[in-house]
Amino acid sequence: MKNLYLILFSTIIYLATISSFAQNSSLQKKQTVIKSVEKHQQELIALSDSIWGFAETALMEHKSSKMLADYAERQGFRVTRGVADLPTAFIATYGSGKPIIGVMGEYDALPGLSQKVQTTKESHTPNAAGHGCGHNMFGPGSLGAAIAIKELMEAGQLSGTIRFYGTPAEEDLAGKVYMARAGLFDDLDVCLDWHPSYENEANTQSSQAITDFTINFKGKSAHSALDPWNGRSALDAAEFFTSGINSLREHVKPSVRMHYVYKNAGQVPNVVPAEASVWLWIRDSKRSGVAAIAERMKNIAKGAALMAGVDSEVVMNNGLYEILTNEIGAKTLQKNIEIVGPIIYTEEEIKFANTIMKAYGSESKGIDGSIHPIKKKRKDPAGGSTDVGDVSYIVPEISLSATTAPAGAPWHSWVVVSCGGMSIGHKGMLFASKSLGATMVDLFEDKSLIIKIREEFIRKKGKEVWKAMLPDGPAPIPNSN
Ligand SMILES: [Zn+2]
Repeated sequence: MKNLYLILFSTIIYLATISSFAQNSSLQKKQTVIKSVEKHQQELIALSDSIWGFAETALMEHKSSKMLADYAERQGFRVTRGVADLPTAFIATYGSGKPIIGVMGEYDALPGLSQKVQTTKESHTPNAAGHGCGHNMFGPGSLGAAIAIKELMEAGQLSGTIRFYGTPAEEDLAGKVYMARAGLFDDLDVCLDWHPSYENEANTQSSQAITDFTINFKGKSAHSALDPWNGRSALDAAEFFTSGINSLREHVKPSVRMHYVYKNAGQVPNVVPAEASVWLWIRDSKRSGVAAIAERMKNIAKGAALMAGVDSEVVMNNGLYEILTNEIGAKTLQKNIEIVGPIIYTEEEIKFANTIMKAYGSESKGIDGSIHPIKKKRKDPAGGSTDVGDVSYIVPEISLSATTAPAGAPWHSWVVVSCGGMSIGHKGMLFASKSLGATMVDLFEDKSLIIKIREEFIRKKGKEVWKAMLPDGPAPIPNSN
């Protein structure tokens, strides 16, 4: 009996030693990831600053994507450019076999937001685009994590495949949906991404599903004074339509958002408008909610056309799914952002943040570099949609927010552009590289973790079958002239 206790005791000690050795070795690998990001930090910052300067809008990101793809190639990745018939999309791969872990990087800018790196509003180039969503940091930050993993693979410390996705046109045209429709995410085990923010946190919140429509009305032109009885006004129909949409607001759930603009409302008052069109976006917490409202909207379009005696046509431009969150993935990320630790700012950076917020007309609250605990999931997400949602219906997605702007900064504004071109943004980007890289170490090392993440994914996805909400044919590539 005594011997049995002795054997049992020795076994426990042995297993504890093995487990603590594994933890130490995993921690060492994460320290190697952090060192790798620090080793490459000047290059990553140079990439981010160059893309900030290029400020290329959706599907026009030729210089930005080339610079990232060239850098990945120089680091030893196999690069495939122009994937999914999108000239500015690419995939950079290193390693082989399972697991296959993906990480996404965006790089498109927003029109009309050109801004200098300073605390007052002033265009860098008048009327030009600017990185008001911080995507200049997004691509290099994610690539930095992939490079750190590649280096661990080169050193024989990890095995499998790491894949960086250069995903264009997030702000417009839904680049990732085209890549998803081409099946480019299908064989991934887990995918990661991050987004610039004013808080550091492992994301547990979803986004809104959205569908983008154009409603065209066609009538008959006539002289507005001489023979208006011969005319059939498409503008009348457009007005009946928007009036119907505004009445519909009263009878939808509070989570629904509908917003529209008139794209075409006639040319001059003395011609009865033969053509009019309305551009409408419908959002809700779930894809199914948007689909139900869309059916009611189609009837309103038909009714409006009947009232005006014109024809109507509803065109679906594209649509996005809400993000399917993954709590086991988020908890894994949380452990790693705690290892990386909070972002520390200098006095000058805090002064810059406070001055720029005051200049914008908002309260100055410093910069929040702390690590927030995981938030409880809200039933209905805050407003906003992203094409990451579609990817999250194909493969489990782990998402990070990293501070690149002052606390409470107005998003899609010149404040975000300015901070994304200087050290406040750079620090958030490097924090993201380290946090994503460290999280990937867990994914490459622990098969059971991937199984648990995927089990949650399958359970949450339920019976929903992902389908790209895109018109047939390739993406409409803008003319570069
Ligand atoms: Zn964004």
